[in-house]
Amino acid sequence: PMFEYAPAPESRAVVDIAPSYGLFVDGEFREAADGRVFKTVSPSTEEVLAEVAHAGAEDVDAAVAAARRAFGPWSALPGAERAKYLFRIARIIQERSRELAVLETLDNGKPIRETRDTDLPLVAAHFFYYAGWADKLAHAGFGPDPRPLGVAGQVIPWNFPLLMLAWKVAPALACGNTVVLKPAETTPLSALFFADVCRQAGLPAGVVNILTGDGSTGAALVAHDGIDKVAFTGSTAVGRQIARTVAGTAKKLTLELGGKGANIVFEDAPIDQAVEGIVNGIYFNQGQVCCAGSRLLVQESVQDEVLDALKRRLATLRVGDPLDKNTDVGAVNSAEQLARITELADSGEAEGAERWSAPCDLPERGYWFAPTVFTGVTQAHRIAREEIFGPVLSVLTFRTPDEAVAKANNSQYGLSAGVWTEKGSRILAMASRLRAGVVWANTFNKFDPTSPFGGYKESGFGREGGRHGLEAYLDV
Ligand code: NAD
Repeated sequence: PMFEYAPAPESRAVVDIAPSYGLFVDGEFREAADGRVFKTVSPSTEEVLAEVAHAGAEDVDAAVAAARRAFGPWSALPGAERAKYLFRIARIIQERSRELAVLETLDNGKPIRETRDTDLPLVAAHFFYYAGWADKLAHAGFGPDPRPLGVAGQVIPWNFPLLMLAWKVAPALACGNTVVLKPAETTPLSALFFADVCRQAGLPAGVVNILTGDGSTGAALVAHDGIDKVAFTGSTAVGRQIARTVAGTAKKLTLELGGKGANIVFEDAPIDQAVEGIVNGIYFNQGQVCCAGSRLLVQESVQDEVLDALKRRLATLRVGDPLDKNTDVGAVNSAEQLARITELADSGEAEGAERWSAPCDLPERGYWFAPTVFTGVTQAHRIAREEIFGPVLSVLTFRTPDEAVAKANNSQYGLSAGVWTEKGSRILAMASRLRAGVVWANTFNKFDPTSPFGGYKESGFGREGGRHGLEAYLDV
């Protein structure tokens, strides 16, 4: 079963979703060896979108074997030849980006404005960017003879399904590796669509294999003897488990895990701009972003001004049908995720923080959570320490830059931070003192394929993006 073109207005009719999908192994779609399937639903309506094959151990064997066979010829290609495939994939993604944006919005629940304007352009940009590297590896300071690692086993989450795929697949292929990728169980469709893009691009069979399934499929892939490298993005808990599995083997490992980003607003900040940055920081993708600005640290002197402006702004957000181009906040990804968000938000209230939710009518069906702000939050509260991964902002205050740094760094995580101030010298001083893989200045959630991305502390190790992203897929 394949996706077909159905040119139509910007609605779900843009993409024709088949009733069932197979695994993509050795260049072909096939059923799981044991015939197992699972359903993927649209989080905004709870409607079943399709039935998808559930890969088991036998399928992992077959996919790894196909990737192993493909590795020799693929890695032996001149870099310029691999680049051609990657450029072709990038162009096909651009051509089919309307279909992909609608599909991603249906399967994930995020607003079409985000998939159209952020996810899809970045996905194409990653393939273009790494296509450009494929023939330059020998001259990029890696040493005289950089070599691919072999077969990469890649496991990704549901919050940016296609973008996380691009972050992992593009650099791996540019370096000459082959891949077996497992998308998240709640968002399998765009990865299978990508498999079709690979076929359309004429990519040799076995270079990219897609295994849909749940955590057990991911665990079988990570443990498989036939892979040389594991790349994982997801929760810190599963990251730890994977690190234990890989320990004692010769596999290379990169982990991109959770975060609890501090968005720090100084009294001299451009307040209107900062409010937009706070909104983008925590309500973009319903807050289901590893580098979300989920902690607002606001200087005491401007606390009231910032919070008033923030609440006024949140009251104007349009929450609802993610396929509507005017929607700002869509559905959260699953019933499980909604339960997790609800539990943590309730803990905030129980522990004494003050809860405020944006006034909005939430649809009856689907998984929805209103944009929420907690004030009076202290470091002791769970909502100040644990990743909520939802549209919930925890507000803390500070008086001095030292106090801001201390509070921002008081976290098991270290993925992202934001600094809002008119003072250039303060931006530089803060950036060097914050223990976070990315520090944004007077902006938030800005991504670019040329920039390495990754965490300090329990946010993981290794970098994706930029030249550094290649190091994760090369032996030098
Ligand atoms: P998750 O860890 O539960 O799942 C991620 C993926 O791992 C899924 O494909 C899942 O099927 C698979 N998986 C589950 N158990 C596994 C196991 N034992 N072995 C191998 N694979 C297994 O996380 P999630 O709930 O899907 O995603 C949310 C988390 O991901 C958040 O904590 C978020 O911060 C993190 N995240 C991090 C980044 C980053 O770049 N640092 C990006 C996006 C998401």
